[in-house]
Amino acid sequence: MVIILLISPPLDKQLELVYIGLGSNLGFPCQQLQRAILSLSQLQSTELMQVANFYQSLPFAGKIQPLFVNTVVLLKTQLNPWHLLKQLQKIEYQQARKRPYRWSARTLDLDILLYGKRVINSSRLTIPHPQIAKRAFVLYPLYDITPDLVIPIYGKVQRLLMGCSKQQLFHVPMGLSCNETKY
Ligand code: AMP
Repeated sequence: MVIILLISPPLDKQLELVYIGLGSNLGFPCQQLQRAILSLSQLQSTELMQVANFYQSLPFAGKIQPLFVNTVVLLKTQLNPWHLLKQLQKIEYQQARKRPYRWSARTLDLDILLYGKRVINSSRLTIPHPQIAKRAFVLYPLYDITPDLVIPIYGKVQRLLMGCSKQQLFHVPMGLSCNETKY
């Protein structure tokens, strides 16, 4: 496995459409997302295509934590999925991401939600992202960008949204998105 990673080139031959999920609930979350979007737009062999609305949501698993702000961006990239994951982790660490325990509050979380139509189940990467079909804060921004999106394995984003109707989500008006207090 390690050998494959070492010899696999970071660039695929063709460009792929890739959806990235962004989330933050520490240290000015909206600003964290905006900074991360700028970094994503500057990745090698990558073009930022679209940014969804920002949404506020309650912390998952009933945790007592600040509210999350989430969005999704659409990239066109030649980076292969594993190299892209490495770049995302670099951006997380640049923005002081710590991992003290599972589900802890975080300055920035970046997930590869979809990589073209590919289905990947490796030790480091599961695509489509395993939580993609269950979280309103992922499905709504995906719907913003591509209303007729069909997610491999799980189906139409429009139908999946109906199963999340009980999850509370608040749209963050664009002009107010960075008028926030530090957590
Ligand atoms: P997190 O705590 O959400 O930052 O999880 C990071 C871990 O999830 C990393 O060790 C990744 O290797 C793994 N992972 C598996 N699938 C994905 C994915 N689709 N996007 C991002 N990280 C993933």
